[in-house]
Amino acid sequence: LLGVVALDGPSGTGKSTVSRKLAFALGATYLDTGAMYRAVTLAVLRAEVDPSDPAAVAGVVRAARLTVGTDPEGPEIFLDGSDVGREIRGPEVTGAVSAVSAVAEVREQLVAHQRKLIGEALVSPGGMVVEGRDIGTVVAPDAGLKVYLTASAHARAQRRTAQDVSEGRAGDLDRTHADVQRRDALDSGRKVAPLRKADDAVELDTTDLGVVEVLTQLRKHVEC
Ligand code: C5P
Repeated sequence: LLGVVALDGPSGTGKSTVSRKLAFALGATYLDTGAMYRAVTLAVLRAEVDPSDPAAVAGVVRAARLTVGTDPEGPEIFLDGSDVGREIRGPEVTGAVSAVSAVAEVREQLVAHQRKLIGEALVSPGGMVVEGRDIGTVVAPDAGLKVYLTASAHARAQRRTAQDVSEGRAGDLDRTHADVQRRDALDSGRKVAPLRKADDAVELDTTDLGVVEVLTQLRKHVEC
Protein backbone atom coordinates (compact mmCIF):
# COMPACT_ATOMS: atom_id res chain seq x y z
CA LEU A 1 0.00 0.00 0.00
CA LEU A 2 1.53 3.28 -1.12
CA GLY A 3 -0.56 5.64 1.02
CA VAL A 4 -0.22 9.38 0.54
CA VAL A 5 2.47 11.22 -1.39
CA ALA A 6 2.41 14.89 -0.31
CA LEU A 7 3.74 17.46 -2.80
CA ASP A 8 4.01 21.01 -1.53
CA GLY A 9 5.69 24.19 -2.68
CA PRO A 10 5.00 27.62 -4.16
CA SER A 11 3.36 28.16 -7.53
CA GLY A 12 5.22 27.50 -10.76
CA THR A 13 7.52 24.81 -9.40
CA GLY A 14 5.93 22.25 -11.72
CA LYS A 15 3.90 20.75 -8.88
CA SER A 16 0.69 20.11 -10.81
CA THR A 17 2.30 18.59 -13.90
CA VAL A 18 4.61 16.42 -11.86
CA SER A 19 1.91 15.37 -9.35
CA ARG A 20 -0.48 14.26 -12.08
CA LYS A 21 2.18 12.35 -13.98
CA LEU A 22 3.47 10.72 -10.83
CA ALA A 23 -0.05 9.66 -9.81
CA PHE A 24 -0.68 8.24 -13.27
CA ALA A 25 2.61 6.31 -13.27
CA LEU A 26 1.89 4.87 -9.82
CA GLY A 27 -1.74 3.98 -10.57
CA ALA A 28 -2.68 6.37 -7.78
CA THR A 29 -5.48 8.93 -7.57
CA TYR A 30 -4.68 12.65 -7.48
CA LEU A 31 -5.94 15.56 -5.41
CA ASP A 32 -5.32 19.19 -6.38
CA THR A 33 -6.06 21.14 -3.19
CA GLY A 34 -5.19 24.45 -4.91
CA ALA A 35 -8.15 23.86 -7.26
CA MET A 36 -10.39 23.60 -4.17
CA TYR A 37 -9.17 26.96 -2.80
CA ARG A 38 -9.63 28.43 -6.28
CA ALA A 39 -13.19 27.07 -6.63
CA VAL A 40 -14.34 28.51 -3.30
CA THR A 41 -12.68 31.81 -4.28
CA LEU A 42 -14.82 31.78 -7.42
CA ALA A 43 -17.87 31.29 -5.19
CA VAL A 44 -16.80 34.33 -3.13
CA LEU A 45 -16.37 36.45 -6.28
CA ARG A 46 -19.72 35.30 -7.69
CA ALA A 47 -21.41 36.21 -4.40
CA GLU A 48 -19.80 39.66 -4.71
CA VAL A 49 -18.47 39.39 -1.20
CA ASP A 50 -15.29 41.26 -0.24
CA PRO A 51 -12.44 38.66 -0.20
CA SER A 52 -10.88 40.53 2.73
CA ASP A 53 -14.00 40.13 4.94
CA PRO A 54 -13.35 36.80 6.76
CA ALA A 55 -16.85 36.29 8.19
CA ALA A 56 -18.57 36.95 4.87
CA VAL A 57 -16.06 34.77 3.01
CA ALA A 58 -16.51 31.89 5.46
CA GLY A 59 -20.29 32.10 5.03
CA VAL A 60 -20.08 31.81 1.25
CA VAL A 61 -17.64 28.91 1.47
CA ARG A 62 -19.87 27.07 3.96
CA ALA A 63 -22.77 27.26 1.51
CA ALA A 64 -20.74 26.31 -1.60
CA ARG A 65 -21.19 22.79 -2.97
CA LEU A 66 -17.82 21.54 -4.12
CA THR A 67 -17.34 18.27 -6.03
CA VAL A 68 -13.76 17.25 -6.62
CA GLY A 69 -12.56 14.56 -9.04
CA THR A 70 -9.40 12.58 -8.36
CA ASP A 71 -8.52 11.16 -11.79
CA PRO A 72 -4.94 12.27 -12.63
CA GLU A 73 -5.77 12.20 -16.36
CA GLY A 74 -8.62 14.70 -16.05
CA PRO A 75 -9.22 16.04 -12.56
CA GLU A 76 -12.61 17.73 -12.61
CA ILE A 77 -13.97 20.32 -10.24
CA PHE A 78 -17.60 21.35 -9.92
CA LEU A 79 -19.02 24.29 -8.01
CA ASP A 80 -22.75 24.16 -7.29
CA GLY A 81 -23.20 21.59 -10.05
CA SER A 82 -21.24 23.24 -12.86
CA ASP A 83 -17.74 22.52 -14.17
CA VAL A 84 -15.45 25.41 -13.18
CA GLY A 85 -12.15 23.83 -14.28
CA ARG A 86 -11.31 26.64 -16.68
CA GLU A 87 -12.72 29.60 -14.81
CA ILE A 88 -10.72 28.93 -11.65
CA ARG A 89 -7.44 29.49 -13.56
CA GLY A 90 -8.39 33.00 -14.69
CA PRO A 91 -6.82 36.22 -13.36
CA GLU A 92 -9.78 37.22 -11.14
CA VAL A 93 -9.58 34.02 -9.11
CA THR A 94 -5.76 34.03 -9.10
CA GLY A 95 -5.85 37.59 -7.76
CA ALA A 96 -8.18 36.80 -4.85
CA VAL A 97 -7.30 33.22 -3.87
CA SER A 98 -4.55 34.03 -1.37
CA ALA A 99 -6.89 36.29 0.64
CA VAL A 100 -9.63 33.65 0.70
CA SER A 101 -7.23 30.85 1.62
CA ALA A 102 -5.87 32.87 4.55
CA VAL A 103 -9.26 32.70 6.33
CA ALA A 104 -9.01 30.17 9.18
CA GLU A 105 -12.57 28.88 8.82
CA VAL A 106 -12.13 28.37 5.08
CA ARG A 107 -9.07 26.25 5.74
CA GLU A 108 -10.89 24.23 8.42
CA GLN A 109 -13.67 23.40 5.99
CA LEU A 110 -11.40 22.54 3.08
CA VAL A 111 -8.92 20.53 5.17
CA ALA A 112 -11.83 18.42 6.50
CA HIS A 113 -13.06 17.88 2.92
CA GLN A 114 -9.52 16.98 1.77
CA ARG A 115 -9.05 14.47 4.59
CA LYS A 116 -12.36 12.85 3.67
CA LEU A 117 -11.29 12.50 0.01
CA ILE A 118 -7.92 11.08 1.10
CA GLY A 119 -9.64 8.59 3.42
CA GLU A 120 -11.88 7.41 0.58
CA ALA A 121 -8.90 7.08 -1.77
CA LEU A 122 -6.81 5.06 0.62
CA VAL A 123 -9.13 2.07 0.46
CA SER A 124 -7.71 1.43 -3.03
CA PRO A 125 -4.17 0.02 -3.26
CA GLY A 126 -2.72 2.73 -5.54
CA GLY A 127 -2.74 5.46 -2.91
CA MET A 128 -3.07 9.17 -3.63
CA VAL A 129 -0.77 11.99 -4.71
CA VAL A 130 -1.92 15.19 -3.00
CA GLU A 131 -0.56 18.58 -3.99
CA GLY A 132 -0.83 21.93 -2.23
CA ARG A 133 0.88 24.18 0.28
CA ASP A 134 0.17 22.48 3.63
CA ILE A 135 -0.24 18.80 2.78
CA GLY A 136 2.90 17.57 4.55
CA THR A 137 2.48 19.97 7.47
CA VAL A 138 -1.29 19.99 8.13
CA VAL A 139 -3.53 17.90 5.86
CA ALA A 140 -1.57 14.63 5.85
CA PRO A 141 1.32 14.85 8.34
CA ASP A 142 1.60 11.03 8.26
CA ALA A 143 2.13 10.90 4.47
CA GLY A 144 4.45 8.10 3.37
CA LEU A 145 6.50 10.49 1.27
CA LYS A 146 6.67 14.28 1.52
CA VAL A 147 8.23 16.37 -1.20
CA TYR A 148 8.80 20.13 -1.19
CA LEU A 149 9.42 21.58 -4.65
CA THR A 150 11.19 24.90 -5.11
CA ALA A 151 12.48 26.90 -8.11
CA SER A 152 13.74 30.42 -8.68
CA ALA A 153 11.05 33.11 -8.96
CA HIS A 154 12.12 33.75 -12.55
CA ALA A 155 11.77 30.09 -13.56
CA ARG A 156 8.41 29.90 -11.87
CA ALA A 157 7.10 33.01 -13.62
CA GLN A 158 8.29 31.61 -16.96
CA ARG A 159 6.49 28.32 -16.39
CA ARG A 160 3.26 29.99 -15.31
CA THR A 161 3.36 32.25 -18.38
CA ALA A 162 3.97 29.29 -20.71
CA GLN A 163 1.07 27.47 -19.04
CA ASP A 164 -1.23 30.49 -19.54
CA VAL A 165 -0.35 30.66 -23.22
CA SER A 166 -0.79 26.93 -23.76
CA GLU A 167 -4.21 27.08 -22.12
CA GLY A 168 -5.35 29.97 -24.30
CA ARG A 169 -4.91 32.86 -21.85
CA ALA A 170 -2.79 35.96 -22.43
CA GLY A 171 0.84 35.45 -21.38
CA ASP A 172 2.48 38.35 -19.56
CA LEU A 173 5.83 37.49 -17.97
CA ASP A 174 6.25 40.69 -15.93
CA ARG A 175 2.76 40.55 -14.52
CA THR A 176 3.08 36.85 -13.77
CA HIS A 177 6.44 37.41 -12.07
CA ALA A 178 4.88 40.06 -9.83
CA ASP A 179 1.87 37.82 -9.13
CA VAL A 180 4.04 34.83 -8.22
CA GLN A 181 6.01 36.95 -5.75
CA ARG A 182 2.91 38.55 -4.28
CA ARG A 183 1.23 35.17 -3.73
CA ASP A 184 4.40 33.65 -2.24
CA ALA A 185 4.61 36.48 0.28
CA LEU A 186 0.92 36.11 1.21
CA ASP A 187 1.01 32.29 1.35
CA SER A 188 4.21 32.18 3.43
CA GLY A 189 3.27 35.11 5.64
CA ARG A 190 -0.26 34.14 6.64
CA LYS A 191 -1.04 33.13 10.24
CA VAL A 192 -2.88 29.89 9.50
CA ALA A 193 -0.94 27.04 7.87
CA PRO A 194 1.68 29.20 6.15
CA LEU A 195 3.54 27.72 3.22
CA ARG A 196 6.62 25.97 4.55
CA LYS A 197 8.58 22.78 4.08
CA ALA A 198 7.71 19.98 6.51
CA ASP A 199 10.78 19.00 8.56
CA ASP A 200 10.73 15.49 7.10
CA ALA A 201 10.08 16.51 3.47
CA VAL A 202 12.56 15.88 0.67
CA GLU A 203 13.40 19.22 -0.96
CA LEU A 204 13.87 19.32 -4.71
CA ASP A 205 14.93 22.45 -6.61
CA THR A 206 13.39 22.20 -10.09
CA THR A 207 14.91 25.43 -11.53
CA ASP A 208 17.14 23.53 -13.97
CA LEU A 209 15.20 20.27 -14.16
CA GLY A 210 12.72 19.14 -16.80
CA VAL A 211 9.54 17.26 -15.94
CA VAL A 212 11.09 13.89 -16.81
CA GLU A 213 14.07 14.52 -14.54
CA VAL A 214 11.86 15.58 -11.64
CA LEU A 215 9.71 12.48 -12.11
CA THR A 216 12.76 10.24 -12.17
CA GLN A 217 13.94 11.71 -8.87
CA LEU A 218 10.52 11.37 -7.27
CA ARG A 219 10.13 7.76 -8.38
CA LYS A 220 13.45 6.96 -6.71
CA HIS A 221 12.10 8.35 -3.43
CA VAL A 222 8.83 6.44 -3.82
CA GLU A 223 10.74 3.21 -4.30
CA CYS A 224 12.88 3.71 -1.17
O1 C5P B 1 -1.63 25.63 -6.46
P1 C5P B 1 -2.44 26.81 -6.88
O2 C5P B 1 -1.63 27.91 -7.49
O3 C5P B 1 -3.62 26.44 -7.73
O4 C5P B 1 -3.06 27.37 -5.51
C1 C5P B 1 -3.79 28.56 -5.49
C2 C5P B 1 -3.73 29.21 -4.12
O5 C5P B 1 -4.47 28.41 -3.18
C3 C5P B 1 -2.37 29.37 -3.49
O6 C5P B 1 -1.73 30.57 -3.90
C4 C5P B 1 -2.69 29.40 -1.99
O7 C5P B 1 -3.10 30.69 -1.59
C5 C5P B 1 -3.90 28.49 -1.90
N1 C5P B 1 -3.60 27.15 -1.41
C6 C5P B 1 -3.48 26.96 -0.05
N2 C5P B 1 -3.28 25.70 0.45
C7 C5P B 1 -3.22 24.64 -0.37
C8 C5P B 1 -3.32 24.81 -1.77
C9 C5P B 1 -3.50 26.09 -2.26
O8 C5P B 1 -3.53 27.91 0.71
N3 C5P B 1 -3.06 23.41 0.16
